[in-house]
Amino acid sequence: MPRKLCVSFTKLRLTSHQLRVETGRYASNRTPHNERYCLICNSIDLEDEYHFLLICNMYTDIRRKYINKYYYENPSVLKFIELVQSKDATVLNNLCKYVYKAFEKRVNVVNVVNM
Ligand SMILES: [Zn+2]
Repeated sequence: MPRKLCVSFTKLRLTSHQLRVETGRYASNRTPHNERYCLICNSIDLEDEYHFLLICNMYTDIRRKYINKYYYENPSVLKFIELVQSKDATVLNNLCKYVYKAFEKRVNVVNVVNM
């Protein structure tokens, strides 16, 4: 697997990412935890790892390509945990591709919004 895909997935697992659930902790951008909504899809969902992987409609096209619909149709925290802890090489490989491409898309959307 290319290193850049591993790095993206590792950042997600270590919460070393730019999702609002984390950036809302920063002093300069401090937001109460329950108000760290996803600004990418303008929903009232928290922008956390669960939302990013299985819910956010901004990444639906990427999700359909790389994640089995079992996980995102009727999603649950249990399915989320099952997915991120998978030992199946194909599932993990595709999950890493999803995370990389979704983070890439997120950066582009955030850059357009901030212009
Ligand atoms: Zn969203």
